[in-house]
Amino acid sequence: MSQLMPAAFVGHGNPMNALALNRYTDAWSTFAAQSPRPSAVLVVSAHWYVNITAVTAMKLPRTIHDFYGFPQELFDVQYPAPGDPLVAQRIVDVVQPTYVGLDEDSWGIDHGTWSVLVHMFPKADVPVLQLSINATLPFEYHFNLGAQLHALRSEGVMILASGNVVHNLGLIDWNSPGRGTDWAQRFDDDVRSVMTNDANDLGRMSGHRDYRLAVPTPDHFLPLAYVAGLASAANASTTTLVDGYEMGSLSMTAYQLAGD
Ligand code: ZN
Repeated sequence: MSQLMPAAFVGHGNPMNALALNRYTDAWSTFAAQSPRPSAVLVVSAHWYVNITAVTAMKLPRTIHDFYGFPQELFDVQYPAPGDPLVAQRIVDVVQPTYVGLDEDSWGIDHGTWSVLVHMFPKADVPVLQLSINATLPFEYHFNLGAQLHALRSEGVMILASGNVVHNLGLIDWNSPGRGTDWAQRFDDDVRSVMTNDANDLGRMSGHRDYRLAVPTPDHFLPLAYVAGLASAANASTTTLVDGYEMGSLSMTAYQLAGD
């Protein structure tokens, strides 16, 4: 019988977490260390939010430094993991009739992915693919696509989603390290209640009274839809991997979906 790989949603937060060692990065590296070694990692990153659904299909994806105003040492980070064109083709096949394009030369590995993977797989020796988030389509599309990816978990592929449950950069309070505002905590707590009980209900969170503050744009929230879809397909619930807040308006909560 084939083994079911664990999956996870990670709150990546500040890109500087790539260079940090803290309780979040500890949780990420422990998650990987306690998981079977995957044949490939498929990452749904908030930072590849475009008008098409695509998967990276190049043999050597480039490291993308998609941010501004950070120290040079962050721009110097390279994450030279290989890609895996055969796994990319497998993803295209497994989600049919949903269309996924093969990206041969556009994207690569963005910081939503590498700021986490430098901790999970510091040797960059596991092939990495990214799946874009199609910005033109509603929550249900992403939830269902996540569920369609379930088959990959028994084929050695670790699926990671990287975003933040609460992500409002406009309301960041630099004087609140490690703290969350009342609305950020309310929203994060209620999402947690859904994710740890019945992830099928995650779509309802768009009606939450704090949704507009917590999710001013969908890019960092939608990666969670993929893990909720995976949980639904596995008829399982996720557990909290680590939690916390940063700068008032970011939640760092991460969820894991156990393997077997
Ligand atoms: Zn981000």
